[in-house]
Amino acid sequence: MGKNKEVLIVGAGLGSLASALRLSYSGYKVKIIEKQNTAGGRLNFIKQDGFTFDVGPSFFSMSYEFVELFKSIGEPIPFELNELNPLYTVNIAGSDKVFQIYKDLDKLAEEFKGIEDNLEAKIRKYLKGAKEIFHDTEYKVVKKNFDSILGFIMSMATVPIKHLPKLFRTFWQELERHFESEEVKIIFSLVAFFLGATPFNTPSVYNLLNYTELEHDGYWNVKGGMYKIVEGILGLLEKKNVEILYNTEITSVSHKNGILTSLHDANGNEYKADVYIVNADAAWFRGKFLKRPKFTEEKLDKMEWTLAPFTMYLGVKGKIPGIHHHNYFLGDNFRDYADTIFRSTVAPKKPYYYVNVASKSNPECAPEGCENLFILCPVPDLRIKPNWDDAEDLVDEILEDLSERVNFDIKNNILTKVVYTPEKWRDMFNLYKGSGLGLAHGLNQIGAFRPSNKDEELNNLYYVGASTTPGTGLPIVVIGSKLIHERIIHEHPTV
Ligand SMILES: Cc1cc2nc3c(=O)[nH]c(=O)nc-3n(C[C@H](O)[C@H](O)[C@H](O)COP(=O)(O)OP(=O)(O)OC[C@H]3O[C@@H](n4cnc5c(N)ncnc54)[C@H](O)[C@@H]3O)c2cc1C
Repeated sequence: MGKNKEVLIVGAGLGSLASALRLSYSGYKVKIIEKQNTAGGRLNFIKQDGFTFDVGPSFFSMSYEFVELFKSIGEPIPFELNELNPLYTVNIAGSDKVFQIYKDLDKLAEEFKGIEDNLEAKIRKYLKGAKEIFHDTEYKVVKKNFDSILGFIMSMATVPIKHLPKLFRTFWQELERHFESEEVKIIFSLVAFFLGATPFNTPSVYNLLNYTELEHDGYWNVKGGMYKIVEGILGLLEKKNVEILYNTEITSVSHKNGILTSLHDANGNEYKADVYIVNADAAWFRGKFLKRPKFTEEKLDKMEWTLAPFTMYLGVKGKIPGIHHHNYFLGDNFRDYADTIFRSTVAPKKPYYYVNVASKSNPECAPEGCENLFILCPVPDLRIKPNWDDAEDLVDEILEDLSERVNFDIKNNILTKVVYTPEKWRDMFNLYKGSGLGLAHGLNQIGAFRPSNKDEELNNLYYVGASTTPGTGLPIVVIGSKLIHERIIHEHPTV
């Protein structure tokens, strides 16, 4: 009997961990090399002064992709999923009303009483279209490997023609066809920013995301904190003897005759395997290590990238009554803000931001009588604003605004504080120019137009994670792991 094929993975983000699970359970011998001293990549944690914080993701849609992952390897899911209800809360400056966004459409309509008449019927009609496009594209665009642009276009051509006008309308225009109030349009368009564009230039097909959120599967987090996902997976990887080498950064690669032959770290160590997977940014890696002309810094800078995160982790003394688990704080100039946020060379004034207070539902995240706040303010990436020496100005701006809006003096009750600027995010996980979610999802950067999950020249090199197919977000990189598993078991079968 021959020996099991060896797989080396660069990086231990969620895409990597999910791939390592699938491959180790399929008989491959897997080893992971990670630059940081923890696994999880952006899905990480900070523990400080008795507080625990989720570093990046704090919730997700499409929870059934996690269920599928563990089912595919015959293991029970090693963490407890917790459905968010309400999904989230929105505060709009100048309005006393705090909107609770419910999946239950009766309750949602009640929230918008006097603001948007007849919301329930309108939303049902809106979601019907969004549902159709979700199910008509799920297996043709998202959950499919593509080997050529022609194959991708052929697959797109099988999507029913009735969806075609949605390619020519914007996200916002679609909302305008269904709703009248600015509040409803603003709230349902927030999801467009995750894709790397504004609702005013995102194609209307992405309204399908509101179907995933409001009807299909909702939003979820994990009991005890998001890092339980990583801990659960690590427990299973240990059972399969998957080795993880921490504090080791891959700095160069060798290849010969269309085969990747080895990886090298900064200390001159060499690592060899039969198959390699890169979980670092798939576009950046091709430029930096494989010197591909399509991915030089100049070309990467011309691509569309999602916004950079400016994040704060605050341990606060006292319970803050005017805030919920999962909140957006928006200003009163939505269109202007959306128009400038991707292009502004200075930090935003009157910033829009998201606040997650995990201690509202996970008391073990903070000492008794305290709250842990994770604040995320999306800002321009480092191509546009390369220097963050003025980070404290933005911290002050946010804390002043938030204290006023929740009527609690946050600044004078801070027990612990950590701030990550886009520079820090870039340096921690090699995120290109600090972009938080990787390459954007315009129609020119999805499917066969996105950096492929199989290298175009090296036959034993694959990619998984935010900037390859299908795209970014926790459930989507889990789908990505399924797609490369499918390729590897066919192209490099083990014994
Ligand atoms: C602030 C923030 C909030 C987010 N919120 C959400 C959310 O609420 N819901 C959601 O679904 N998604 C969210 N996301 C997106 C989500 O985090 C990502 O889509 C997902 O985690 C990406 O996983 P990945 O597989 O690409 O791996 P990554 O997280 O990018 O991990 C890659 C790993 O590779 C390592 N690495 C890179 N280069 C090398 C090298 N040369 N050698 C060795 N190791 C290397 C890095 O250190 C890192 O550990 C958020 C992202 C951010 C930044």
